[in-house]
Amino acid sequence: MPVRNGRKYLDDLDRTRREVWIGGRKITTGITEHPAFRQMAVTMSKLYDMQCDPELEDEMTYVSPSTGDRVGMSFLQPVTREDLLRRRRMMKRWADYSGGMLGRTPDYLNSDIMAMASASRFFSLADPSFGENIVNYYTYVRENDLLMTHTLINPQTNRSAPPSKQKDPFIAARIVEKRRDGIVVRGARMLATFPLADEIIVFPSTVIKSGPEDLPYSMAFAIPVDSPGLKFLCREPFCSDSRFDHPLAYGFEEMDAVVVFDDVFVPRERIFLLEDAERANVLHERTDAVVHMSHQVVTREIAKTEFILGVVSLMVETIGIGQFQHVQEKVARIEMILESLRALLIASEQEAELNSWGIMTPRFKYLNVARNVYPRLYPSIRETLQQLGASGLMAMPSSADMESEIRHYIDTYYQGKNSGAEERIRLFKLAWDIAGSSFGSRQEMYERFFFGDPVRMASAFYSWYDTSHFRKMVSDFLDRED
Ligand SMILES: Cc1cc2nc3c(=O)[nH]c(=O)nc-3n(C[C@H](O)[C@H](O)[C@H](O)COP(=O)(O)OP(=O)(O)OC[C@H]3O[C@@H](n4cnc5c(N)ncnc54)[C@H](O)[C@@H]3O)c2cc1C
Repeated sequence: MPVRNGRKYLDDLDRTRREVWIGGRKITTGITEHPAFRQMAVTMSKLYDMQCDPELEDEMTYVSPSTGDRVGMSFLQPVTREDLLRRRRMMKRWADYSGGMLGRTPDYLNSDIMAMASASRFFSLADPSFGENIVNYYTYVRENDLLMTHTLINPQTNRSAPPSKQKDPFIAARIVEKRRDGIVVRGARMLATFPLADEIIVFPSTVIKSGPEDLPYSMAFAIPVDSPGLKFLCREPFCSDSRFDHPLAYGFEEMDAVVVFDDVFVPRERIFLLEDAERANVLHERTDAVVHMSHQVVTREIAKTEFILGVVSLMVETIGIGQFQHVQEKVARIEMILESLRALLIASEQEAELNSWGIMTPRFKYLNVARNVYPRLYPSIRETLQQLGASGLMAMPSSADMESEIRHYIDTYYQGKNSGAEERIRLFKLAWDIAGSSFGSRQEMYERFFFGDPVRMASAFYSWYDTSHFRKMVSDFLDRED
């Protein structure tokens, strides 16, 4: 089947009877009409429509090797550097649509599954059927253009003890029954962004100890979101029904949900790893999935930084603060962050090589730097908006005020240096949706954590980065006799 358009995505969303809990109520039907999800569903449908735009066809899609139909570019298994660039151009177009505010555009997890399928031998070594399963799953999601969400980590309950030593060993999702035709899973996983997906992939949590008591927590599988017993428990929504008041929260509220597995059956053909802590702990690294996901992530982070730089620059111009040195320094800092990210991405592509699975893979070193520094830099980018917007971010009338009899005051007192009141208000409301609103705060939380705990990621970086050459340089220097 060729790529989906927006209408097909929405129809599929409405047809699927997933169990979503929000605000104390269960929704199983009509999710595209629910106020918390309506606009986000429309946004996603617009991304799907881009794939079917004849002018974008070559950029967004490629010809499926199995059917000859056009399928999504982010499923492409790259074998040349040009393939990597084709993937990146497509990913950038989707990222630009939301100013980088969407973490779960389909390309994020398409890249994950694409890389895993290319490394099917990694799975086959545990069990030949697992290797077949990952390839069949990749082909299935590619040919049906399905959207995936994922969940990796266990509930927070008590981080000083492994899942098997919690008050209840069934808090973290685990295998409760092994059957000839599959497994039954009970427990919860902490978070899955975007319950409007078609499929959920459940991959191993960061590090699983390899004691026998922890093996039931070690599994990798994928199931449809409407699998019986699967429940999404959503947080409070941060969306808005006014594009004027919250231009980002209006269309880009992805939602995050705890995932409960109330004895969910996972058919054998959807299992990729089972009771295999050793492989689970190196899954993303050995398959290079982390590299291809990082390629997508850094592309999105560039789109986001570009967008915010545009907002900041317009604010500076609008209220006439560009001559102040500290303002220049703050804007320049964002510009330097942007160019550093871009340089890292380009370097990773230029030094790309075929990996041991035959897939053209960006040089991880550069992407690993980018994915480690962005969680540290993003809060400071957001802070710049607060510092430069100052009280202007507070002094904003609502859309209702704009239609009221105080409008003439608004037109007089809310003007910018060279812009009318409405223009300035729209810009500052956009800035507030990044710098201050619930939506903006959640964006910061996302950038800080979505790829993992930044502290443990930095520790892993420290252990992985090879300093032997530099240590030798210093030893040689100290040993020099001239
Ligand atoms: C907005 C948002 C969206 C997300 N979306 C998804 C998603 O779609 N899918 C998904 O799988 N996950 C998602 N996540 C979860 C993300 O993967 C985790 O936030 C991240 O892995 C950190 O885990 P944690 O939140 O459980 O923090 P914890 O592990 O509970 O850490 C809490 C604090 O304790 C410290 N700490 C805990 N244990 C240790 C340790 N062993 N060593 C050192 N310090 C420690 C941490 O440094 C941190 O400061 C999302 C998170 C956010 C905020």
